[in-house]
Amino acid sequence: MLTINEHYLKLQASYLFSNIAKRVATFQEQNPERDIIKLGIGDVTRALPQACIEAFHSAIDEMANDSSFRGYGPEQGYDFLRTAIAANDFQTRGADISADEIFVSDGAKCDTGNIQELFSLDSKIAIPDPVYPVYLDSNVMAGRTGDFQDGRYQGVVYLDSTKENNYVPVLPSEKVDLIYLCFPNNPTGSTITKAQLKTWVDFAKESKALILFDAAYEAFIQDDSLPHSIYEIDGAREVAIEFRSFSKNAGFTGTRCAYTVVPKECMAYDSKGKEHSVHPLWNRRHCTKFNGVSYPVQKAAEAVYSESGKAQTDELVSYYLENATIVREAINDLGFDSVGGENSPYIWIQGNRDSWDFFDMLLNQAGVVCTPGAGFGKCGQGYIRISAFNSRDNVVEAMGKIKDALK
Ligand code: PLP
Repeated sequence: MLTINEHYLKLQASYLFSNIAKRVATFQEQNPERDIIKLGIGDVTRALPQACIEAFHSAIDEMANDSSFRGYGPEQGYDFLRTAIAANDFQTRGADISADEIFVSDGAKCDTGNIQELFSLDSKIAIPDPVYPVYLDSNVMAGRTGDFQDGRYQGVVYLDSTKENNYVPVLPSEKVDLIYLCFPNNPTGSTITKAQLKTWVDFAKESKALILFDAAYEAFIQDDSLPHSIYEIDGAREVAIEFRSFSKNAGFTGTRCAYTVVPKECMAYDSKGKEHSVHPLWNRRHCTKFNGVSYPVQKAAEAVYSESGKAQTDELVSYYLENATIVREAINDLGFDSVGGENSPYIWIQGNRDSWDFFDMLLNQAGVVCTPGAGFGKCGQGYIRISAFNSRDNVVEAMGKIKDALK
């Protein structure tokens, strides 16, 4: 008899987006004449940069000839892309990362979900609340948590991100082994300073722990004092893995390309306390379970680092950030407290009421769809997230409707 991995039964059904869809459908049925603007999702809306499109097309043409056709590529990614990433995203910022420490993949979602399988099941995990759900669910599936009780999984150390700590969690008071951090944050849009990140690096060093740093929204950082990479912090090479993506800076959400940085100094320990480098473990996993990102997609990603690619991705990021400013100003004018939207495409708004009540109010009174914060964790209760990934016209119209409705 085949038995299942019962840890899957502990998972909470992902009610968030299905519940949103149901409420929107009901509203539309009851109000067929009303238009709805969706500012809930974290998917980009604008086309790929022209530089990426040209590189994509020309790589496809190479695939059309026997002489330039390419089959399986290196699992870790082509050297042209790994070298461009190391030079542009790290070395220019004084972060000492080499091309062979970069593993190109088809998404930060897969990488942040898969990384936990390198570590023992009794590793203690520290996870932010509110959170991008992949970190938590992948650990539940693996069996690293207990049951779900009162809105939280047993055995997990939750890192509360609240107004009191400015949405940057404080160090846990107990020992942990794997620490998930994400800045600029999804869903709160908050950022972390170099000094704050240094306290996490020092803490990880002292506890022989590892930080899993998700920097998928790094391109949105405008404040020059903020770290774009954890490797801008002294000592991070020994205790941090970083996840990056081309999804949000260059619109690759449907094209799929991302990468994970595993410095060779990153260590973990066996049951006898012997030190092992994590780099060969991730390399082994990647080569066993993944067969590389397609050549045309990697060529398109490489074009992000060309002169025109940089200018075009900057323009895309600025466009979404201008949307975020419009949202932030409207929300502040209405007297709500908010965070994010300055170095991030997300605005996290304190509604002073239940998240779903706030959601229903915006839907019913303004015809605008947001994401209820409670869907991201217990600390998200009372908040909503508005995403700046939309057209300018939609954002302006949505904010006008919210203002008219709530004034
Ligand atoms: N990490 C965070 C924090 C995200 O919000 C997202 C997507 O929304 C991802 C990773 C996924 O990125 P990718 O499209 O590269 O899988």
